[in-house]
Amino acid sequence: MYLYNSLTHKKAEFTTHTPGHVEMYTCGPTVYHFAHIGNLRSYIMEDVLEKFLRYEGYDVNRVMNITDVGHLASDADTGEDKMLKGAKRENKSVMDIAKFYTDAFFEDCKKLNIKRPDVVEAATSCIPEYIEIVSKLLEKGYAYTAGGNVYFDSSKLKKYYVFNDHNEEDLAVGVREGVEEDTNKRNKNDFVLWFTKSKFEDQALKWESPWGVGYPGWHIECSGISMKYNGEYLDLHCGGIDNAFPHHTNEIAQSESYMGHEWCPQWFHVHHLNTSSGKMSKSKGEFLTVSLLEEKGYDPMAYRFFCLQSHYRKALVFTWENLDNAQGAYNKLLKKIAALGIDGDTDAAVAAEYKQKFLQQVGNDLNTSMGITALYDVLKAKTNDATKRAILDDFDQVLGLRLLEKAAQLCEKETVQVKNAAQDGYTITGENDPEIDAMVLQRYKAKQVRNFAEADRIRDELKAQGIEILDTKDGAIWRRV
Ligand code: AMP
Ligand code: ZN
Repeated sequence: MYLYNSLTHKKAEFTTHTPGHVEMYTCGPTVYHFAHIGNLRSYIMEDVLEKFLRYEGYDVNRVMNITDVGHLASDADTGEDKMLKGAKRENKSVMDIAKFYTDAFFEDCKKLNIKRPDVVEAATSCIPEYIEIVSKLLEKGYAYTAGGNVYFDSSKLKKYYVFNDHNEEDLAVGVREGVEEDTNKRNKNDFVLWFTKSKFEDQALKWESPWGVGYPGWHIECSGISMKYNGEYLDLHCGGIDNAFPHHTNEIAQSESYMGHEWCPQWFHVHHLNTSSGKMSKSKGEFLTVSLLEEKGYDPMAYRFFCLQSHYRKALVFTWENLDNAQGAYNKLLKKIAALGIDGDTDAAVAAEYKQKFLQQVGNDLNTSMGITALYDVLKAKTNDATKRAILDDFDQVLGLRLLEKAAQLCEKETVQVKNAAQDGYTITGENDPEIDAMVLQRYKAKQVRNFAEADRIRDELKAQGIEILDTKDGAIWRRV
């Protein structure tokens, strides 16, 4: 695929260190509150990227951290620890807060059909790894101790602003508005690797270290966790665009100084979800969650659909009207899919032709809106319904919109529902007609004993009576067509 790389500011063919295999890292959430739908925009787009790479045939190892320590209110190592802030707000321990919001995050991911990464690791689980990295950075002269803390010395690098489309002065840590300068720092871009002298006496989590009892800086966790689970050569690093500086800049500084070679050549940044008043953020207090969307009657899948309609490198403005439109378009799409028949054989040549086009279009810098357009093209294609269903299902491996499953549910809702838990949880849904139910059950039993000829015979007999059967996860739905 062709992917825009924030490091080179160019779109280029995606490559990997080991052919056919992708080592992928994603900056995970800071679990002091619910994720807002802006955070989840980033995770949705990263999920589609992972699914696309797998669809292309790569084997992917995706690693994600959970920030449960060290992320201060300002990315510039100042302000209160976000976890402590959450614990105080809810009068709970930091560990309880971390557990609760980690679970809540993965619940939201499930609702949005975001796959859980292969490895998920809490920042607090890798303290010995960070200590080892910090020790080596000190040994190699890339770090110094001052005022009890250990700092990375940014002046030791040939190039610090690796994502160099930033205006240095605007982004320099310590000179941003409202950020007090840390007088221990030798250079304005130095950052904390290990804290021992915290302003917060009540810092909840602390560990022994060669530099005294303390806790890790925020950036070191991603380097430590990635090197542990992705190895020394990372192929693809992802995060929201606000992570590029200083977080990713600092991750690169410390990882490459520690290992002595280039670490990750490809960086994928998702631009922000904004409201009419600017970036959606937790610090502003009010933010939208998946649960809130559900309470208002939206399907989380409609939010995923909304995100996929736009390119990940463009800021996306959230309004209720936009979400209404997405929900409407998603419902209409499902209706069209639900109306497709199920009989006939898949035309492999047509499916292959469509797949080729989809790979090309979505593979052009993860063009998800073209991916959605492709769904409508399939619906209009000159081929039978079974082929259309098969192609839609195939594309959905990447888009993750649960198309066939949701369309089946829609059919289920629209039929006069009579459910018979016929056997072993096999549920038959249709009009109240025991004779037809009996035939559908007979077909199921024939399939169970692999008597497919008999199963097909029954289906044909039903078809002759104008009845169509749709197989679902838990049974079958029949309807008159
Ligand atoms: P956090 O939980 O604050 O560490 O953020 C989790 C992820 O969400 C990071 O990758 C951020 O860059 C990303 N993020 C934060 N705010 C937004 C936003 N408004 N839109 C999209 N992504 C965001
Ligand atoms: Zn990170």
